[in-house]
Amino acid sequence: MSTTRRQFLSRAAVAGVALGAPSLLAACGSGDPRSASGCDGYSALTPQELQARQGLNYVDASPKPAQLCSNCMHYTAPAEGACGGCKLFAGPVLAGGYCTAWAAQAS
Ligand code: SF4
Repeated sequence: MSTTRRQFLSRAAVAGVALGAPSLLAACGSGDPRSASGCDGYSALTPQELQARQGLNYVDASPKPAQLCSNCMHYTAPAEGACGGCKLFAGPVLAGGYCTAWAAQAS
């Protein structure tokens, strides 16, 4: 049985995703069900910390394309992986996230 170049590339892509996905998940933690992003950190938060986060209506995907955590003055970029942070509350924050405290970075 011969394998075409297309079949080989397709299988290699599937294998790459299968092998890479666990390491990506490990980089961001085990996947707390409260976190749509899969970034760990929610389970370690106190009720008060969760309340602070929820009080600002944080979401992992911003509904405002021009207002993202990544261009907010309160965002702290991750050293590696996808889970950054926010200076206003504890726990993981994604670059594409948003909350009602968004403020433009100083230029
Ligand atoms: S204040 Fe809100 S928008 Fe700004 S980094 Fe924190 S969570 Fe993201």
